[in-house]
Amino acid sequence: MKKNAYPKIAIVGRPNVGKSSIFNRIVGSRKAIVESASGTTRDRLYADIKWKGKLFTIVDTGGFEAAKEGDIARLVLGQLNAAIKEADIMFFVTDAVAGIMPQDIELASRLRKTSKRIYLVVNKVDGKSQLIKAMEFFELGLGEPYSVSATNGTGLENLLDDLAHDIEKPAAAEEIEAVKVAIVGRPNVGKSSFLNSVLQEERVIVHSIAGTTRDSVDTDFIYKDKHYILIDTAGIRHDTKIKESADFYSGVRSKEAIRRADAAIMLIDGFEGLKEDDSRIISFIIKEGKALVIVVNKWDLTESSAAAQYGDMLVKKANMLKNYPIVFVSSKTGRNVNSTLALIWPLYEKSKIVAGPEKLAEIRKNLNNLNELATKRIKILFLIQKSAQPPAFVVGLRDVKALNDNTRRYIENFFRQEFDFTGIPIRIEYSEPEKQESNVK
Ligand code: GDP
Ligand code: GDP
Repeated sequence: MKKNAYPKIAIVGRPNVGKSSIFNRIVGSRKAIVESASGTTRDRLYADIKWKGKLFTIVDTGGFEAAKEGDIARLVLGQLNAAIKEADIMFFVTDAVAGIMPQDIELASRLRKTSKRIYLVVNKVDGKSQLIKAMEFFELGLGEPYSVSATNGTGLENLLDDLAHDIEKPAAAEEIEAVKVAIVGRPNVGKSSFLNSVLQEERVIVHSIAGTTRDSVDTDFIYKDKHYILIDTAGIRHDTKIKESADFYSGVRSKEAIRRADAAIMLIDGFEGLKEDDSRIISFIIKEGKALVIVVNKWDLTESSAAAQYGDMLVKKANMLKNYPIVFVSSKTGRNVNSTLALIWPLYEKSKIVAGPEKLAEIRKNLNNLNELATKRIKILFLIQKSAQPPAFVVGLRDVKALNDNTRRYIENFFRQEFDFTGIPIRIEYSEPEKQESNVK
């Protein structure tokens, strides 16, 4: 076997989907500089390729099957296992003409379990008619399919461009998982008091978490076996803190803290109520897609008001709050400070959720059955999760214009209920399959 430092890309898939054809197309392409071609070993073909300045080795596993007869299913799985072991990245090739075959589903479920980067390739998209069909392959749960045609050479540039782009990123180092939390709010709402209350809590062990990305201005601690990094707490923590001007917290530093965080604890002064600056910070947190808990602080001063009514009033004032938990806290007495902390980890986990293909297929079906959509003859053709943190979904429709604001809200609420996304901003994009045409050059 050849040994070099280039990332190795294995082309895998069931027989006859066009793996060898894709390999040959890439190797034969004028744009790809073939550094050293097909050092043929017994059962594989290798080629070192340079694309957009990035070097990588592609491996055609197609020859492996061709060399032997007999139990194809076993051979394909064997081939896949070898590829998974050896390759850094995989092109999982399927066939638009044949559609999704049981073996594709089997291989996809195998591949989803690996930590390798997978590019789902739908081959034989020679023309428009196969393009719509290619959308089906979203349901394999491997992200957006790349529609290509080895025969015409279309779509492959796009695939290689994305590959070259992704190769840049160094593999993530093994890190202890920690949730990064920003404590934010206007001056004097009680951030420093809240922080002190958190850190004085005996079950909180302040700790330096090895291997995690953190700044010296951050504070680490462990609470109930989970790691937390409070972001940019230097300004909050020390007596020497600058009492910032009122608009500081819409300023650069807190924005940076929010951007770096996974979750935000947003403090408002329960005595003063919700101010415009508060709403501005909250909007920013939501826009940045961070998990969010609203803390109404200084609740000891407002003991007479009922929490439920107060919460309703807040939502009435700022409707965006309706999707986020509101906790009533006194940093002075420590009341509910723990309950606030206890919310963070579950929200963090929820924000990272990746819905499986079965779940997405079920949601798609249920949405299509709803009166709200059915009576308007709106049909969702495909549904994928594009990313997590925040969860972002792409809903494929034939005609996006058919949606009004009401239906959009309806769909968003449906997602919120299905996943219980309280505390998590979510994104829903609408797309028409025809738009995918840009993939095919
Ligand atoms: P492998 O077994 O996965 O390596 O598949 P091959 O590359 O040997 O291709 C299998 C068959 O599909 C051959 O007959 C190819 O000519 C055909 N094929 C490959 N790519 C395409 C394509 O993009 N469009 C069409 N229509 N046929 C293709
Ligand atoms: P920061 O500027 O947001 O960090 O706010 P501080 O933590 O410095 O608090 C501002 C003022 O509010 C101080 O005088 C605190 O003692 C007071 N304070 C903070 N939290 C509470 C609380 O829960 N109850 C009461 N009564 N006062 C509080």
